[in-house]
Amino acid sequence: MDVQPPASLRSPLRLPHKALMGAGPANAPPRVLHAAAQPLVGHMHPEAFRVMDEIKEGLQYAFQTTNPVTVCLSCAGHGGMEAALSNLLEPGDVAVVPLNGHWGARASDMITRHGARVVPLELPLGQPVTLEAAEEVVSKHRPRLLFLVQAESSTTTLQPLEGFGPMCHKYGTLLVVDAVASLGGYPLWTDRWELDVVYTGSQKVLNAPPGLSPITFSPRAMERVASRRKPCDVYYWDIMQLGDYWGCFGNPRKYHHTGPITLFYALREALAILASEGLTASWRRHEQAALRLRAALERLGAKLFIEDPRHRVHTLTGFTLPRNVDPVAVTRTAMIRHGVELGPGLGPTAGRIMRVGLMGVNAEAWAVDNVISVLEDCVKNPIPNSS
Ligand code: PMP
Repeated sequence: MDVQPPASLRSPLRLPHKALMGAGPANAPPRVLHAAAQPLVGHMHPEAFRVMDEIKEGLQYAFQTTNPVTVCLSCAGHGGMEAALSNLLEPGDVAVVPLNGHWGARASDMITRHGARVVPLELPLGQPVTLEAAEEVVSKHRPRLLFLVQAESSTTTLQPLEGFGPMCHKYGTLLVVDAVASLGGYPLWTDRWELDVVYTGSQKVLNAPPGLSPITFSPRAMERVASRRKPCDVYYWDIMQLGDYWGCFGNPRKYHHTGPITLFYALREALAILASEGLTASWRRHEQAALRLRAALERLGAKLFIEDPRHRVHTLTGFTLPRNVDPVAVTRTAMIRHGVELGPGLGPTAGRIMRVGLMGVNAEAWAVDNVISVLEDCVKNPIPNSS
């Protein structure tokens, strides 16, 4: 052998249980993880198609849409972002993107790679876009799309969405919404609010493992796809091809790629849990957990990063600790001593804030109380960074 079998693979695989209270993934309930251990079937077998159909129905409920083109991409949330943008944009198109956190910058990077042009809407970090400010730019540039992030997780800012769909449609613009850190944890009405493409990730509020990106395309978005000069420039993201794999167009199913069947099982169970709890109850549970967390953080002397309560995301809370406390030491101590993951900042908030995620099964009073007692301990007795 040129390369020997690695000795590391002789030891059994062993992983600790951690409380995932950062920006995601969140913990998955045992029912979801057990579902992934069910027998494998082929990706073109009728059993797989049944699971995919059930996922589609569960996603239509979660997205609150009757869009026939509601599928699940075999990838992380970044893939949802890339699929949304690459199906709608062609070289020379214009996209309006607010720059008020990490994700607008990431979307802008993708948009320019596809040969389209970004018109940035510059805003202070953590400030959502108002309908009036968006209309001013959209009416002037008449872009192909406006990109909004409902829960801007790097800053923990809530972007209101109501009214943006009809406004965009007045100018022939499509509205793309990133709901990776919010879907299931905060109200989102795809049809009622006229959202054109919405995508999320399996690993946050939905409580499935990472690796799937649910996405929905409105009939208006599909008209745009049909009117492209050329097909989507990335085969893997082409919604016309994917739609046939997911049985969206009434045609016989066509092989597009080998779907991650066991992840589908897990997501199917995660959606079953959401459906039995009900969206309204889930939204309320996330709100109550967030309110409990914010009150406790303020008692601890932390300062919430988003000052206006109307602009705070329920699934993820950003804050700064009192001046003399080192957030890196706190995060490290929480992990080493308690097995609790706390989120550091991300992108423009890296090193500036800490973030606690309350997503899915972790959006509960007991989880809030636990994370607060861990924080209290880590603030008082941090493990020094040098040890
Ligand atoms: N958008 C938002 C708002 C997110 O929070 C994330 C993940 N942190 C993503 C996109 C990207 O998701 P993924 O890491 O699954 O690619």
